[in-house]
Amino acid sequence: MKNMAKLGVLRIGHRPKRDKRITTHVGLVSRTFGADQFILAGNDIKVINTLNKVNSKWGNENFKAELTKSPKKFVSEWKKKGGKVVHLTMYGINLPDFKFNNIRKEDTLIIVGAEKVEPWYYENADYNVAIANQPHSEVSALAIFLDRYFKGKELYKEYDSKLKIIPMKSGKKVVEK
Ligand code: SAM
Repeated sequence: MKNMAKLGVLRIGHRPKRDKRITTHVGLVSRTFGADQFILAGNDIKVINTLNKVNSKWGNENFKAELTKSPKKFVSEWKKKGGKVVHLTMYGINLPDFKFNNIRKEDTLIIVGAEKVEPWYYENADYNVAIANQPHSEVSALAIFLDRYFKGKELYKEYDSKLKIIPMKSGKKVVEK
């Protein structure tokens, strides 16, 4: 499904008291929609622990969740190693006009903000991309971006996991290894 390029998601601006749930959802979307790495700026280890728990039950040995205390340094180093940086913002180039082929073969870091994003990120991103030039949600913006990146194939991913859902028309079936 995936080429060999690495895909990371960097969540900046996280306010532990207000954003715990929504940041966890950004991490869950990263994992389920095919990113290799979720990096949270700050020191809210609880979010990382939650994501690691989900991972240990539902699988995906490739996925890593971690903290960074220096998000700008993280971005600069990503670029120094030759990776591309996409910043999701409602002010960017609208998704239908974004050429995914610019990034598909490159390691790509997707930056997702919270409230107000510092100009540094706009200036240092290779691409500022909007999912419709309207304000909405970081969770939906990331999910749509990743779904287009993987052309929907990420939805069929299966993992060697403790728990596995058997899809059904109605009812719930989960098998445990
Ligand atoms: N002023 C922000 C912006 O630049 O998009 C809106 C703040 S929004 C509550 C938090 C984050 O959601 C943003 O930093 C951005 O990553 C994401 N987001 C919201 N709307 C978006 C859109 N239309 N396109 C892409 N990302 C969006």
